[in-house]
Amino acid sequence: MSSNLFFDRIKEMIKLKVRLTNVSAFRIGTGEPGVSPTEPDNMVIKYNGKPFIPGSSLKGIFRSTVESLYREKSPENGRPFVCEGTSGGEFCVDPKNRKDSTTEEDWEKEVAQNACYTCLLFGNSAISSRIFFSDAMPVNEAKVSVRDGVMIRRDTETAMEGRKYDYEVTNPGAAFEFEIEIINPLKPHIEMVKNVLRLMNMGYVRIGGNKSRGLGRFKAEIISAERLTVENGEVKLSKLEGWNDV
Ligand SMILES: [Zn+2]
Repeated sequence: MSSNLFFDRIKEMIKLKVRLTNVSAFRIGTGEPGVSPTEPDNMVIKYNGKPFIPGSSLKGIFRSTVESLYREKSPENGRPFVCEGTSGGEFCVDPKNRKDSTTEEDWEKEVAQNACYTCLLFGNSAISSRIFFSDAMPVNEAKVSVRDGVMIRRDTETAMEGRKYDYEVTNPGAAFEFEIEIINPLKPHIEMVKNVLRLMNMGYVRIGGNKSRGLGRFKAEIISAERLTVENGEVKLSKLEGWNDV
């Protein structure tokens, strides 16, 4: 059993600092209709008056992208990269399937044997997440503007006469920074994270709503990478060079 599979103890922690700059406008809405008649119907989510990207949104984007990228099993050890749990099928390990007679030790063995790499990274109801995303906060003047929208009929995809609404977007050129922490990463985990950033740079992975209108394209850069290791009670922090290859 790989000693990194369970992480009651931190042995290694990778911290990536990432900068996201939007190259098209994007919007992450509040989901609340505007309360004042002078405010647009669809505001973007803000903190202290500035748009930001919640860490929970980032985690969702990273997970769903990893799930769409990986299908097969690891050629090294046969462990599946991903399971069907979040797409309506069965999770690789599910506490519901745990028998009353199973000891804690047996259950850990079961998890160690069957958990997929994606659940081992992002967690599920049986496994803790080992990846953490901070909110991505603006580091420059992130300007918001209001656009006119026209309601689109879903069935015919034609504009609905007279059904206009306003919505806010964050203008291109806003830069946001956030941190990704991975505790006791397993071998494929760092590449999984980097592949999401690569796909973002290629324009395949977008952030926020109204993607069909071309919103949500970002440039992603890893601006620093650090590794913290703990061995025999000794904590070591090192900068990682050559890690910004996304
Ligand atoms: Zn799984």
